[in-house]
Amino acid sequence: MKVLVTGGAGYIGSTTAAELLRRGHEVVVLDSLVRGHRAAVPTGAAFVHGDIADRSVLVPILAEARFDALVHFAAFAYVGESMSEPAMYLDNNVARSLVLFREALSHGVRRIVFSSSCTVYGLPARLPLDESHPKAALSPYGASKIMCEQALRWFADATPDLSAVALRYFNAAGATEERGEDHDPETHLIPLAIDAAMGHSEPLVIFGDDYDTKDGTCLRDYVHILDLAEAHALSVEAGDHEGFHAYNVGAGRAYSVREVLAEIEAVSGRPVPFKVGPRREGDAPALFAGTELIRDRLGWRAKFSSLARIVSDAVRWHPQSSTASVDRGE
Ligand code: NAD
Ligand code: UDP
Repeated sequence: MKVLVTGGAGYIGSTTAAELLRRGHEVVVLDSLVRGHRAAVPTGAAFVHGDIADRSVLVPILAEARFDALVHFAAFAYVGESMSEPAMYLDNNVARSLVLFREALSHGVRRIVFSSSCTVYGLPARLPLDESHPKAALSPYGASKIMCEQALRWFADATPDLSAVALRYFNAAGATEERGEDHDPETHLIPLAIDAAMGHSEPLVIFGDDYDTKDGTCLRDYVHILDLAEAHALSVEAGDHEGFHAYNVGAGRAYSVREVLAEIEAVSGRPVPFKVGPRREGDAPALFAGTELIRDRLGWRAKFSSLARIVSDAVRWHPQSSTASVDRGE
């Protein structure tokens, strides 16, 4: 199939673009590089430098390529930043996505896969989180994902041959040989803790150790980017899949912050210096996914998402790690 991948210069998008190519699809990446890296775009994918809402870029590529599918990653993705810059998030993640969706639909694209997030659920009323859990985002970022999901639901209702899939990722983590997490600023636990272990940053701050969990720190469901990439490929390839579908993509089990740090110490052979700080506003004590739906409908299950695999891949890839060898370019 011919697949347009927006945000394909980013962490998850570039890994998915590589997986789509590996499976024999033709891939065009559209990315403005506002937060991504040109060097992360896999060889074999065509690269178009532009914004998803720039019709002067978008319309010619849609008209020329006649894409079978759109996989839409491009967005801003920091909960904290969205609290201080809500308009920026609603503009980039919602308004610009609507331009993209509208143009894609009018150019005959009938498969759309959208990067959603478990943040759509807000604080969990029950665990594991299944897809029918009420949505109650606590941030403009989470709300932007709900709005795009809602738009896709309406588009699917109005376009009977459209398959629109929202993948609600839990904590994307890990790396491949060629690609890994390289955000600026970085806010995610695993790369920050590896940085601290390598002595390239201040000690990690654990956001609270007085939660009602086994060791007092928060529990999260870490899912390897290779597993995420496969979930996108299966969504693109699914037959008889018209309508709107939302699927959780997680490992289905949770690890505490302290367990993650212990695994990084075991893999890297270095202690992770840390301090315990106050709780971070909006953090749920525990989050993990129910994944029966995506397993039953798409045959997906996590294969690479053990904590040991995630951490060893992340440490091997990490820019400041003594074992990292990949030149990421800019
Ligand atoms: P990322 O920042 O690494 O990648 C996003 C890419 O989109 C970047 O390359 C950026 O340059 C590009 N982009 C942003 N706005 C654009 C625009 N208007 N036009 C063109 N390109 C644009 O982020 P990521 O961690 O790979 O996340 C990808 C997607 O997954 C995002 O939609 C994010 O909200 C979602 N998500 C991520 C996580 C996670 O744990 N990383 C969890 C849940 C959901
Ligand atoms: N966390 C932490 N210190 C940090 C970053 C994260 O203690 O510097 C904790 C955070 O409270 C959460 C977990 O690590 O419980 C994962 O956080 P991350 O920001 O990586 O992802 P999130 O769960 O917020 O999407």
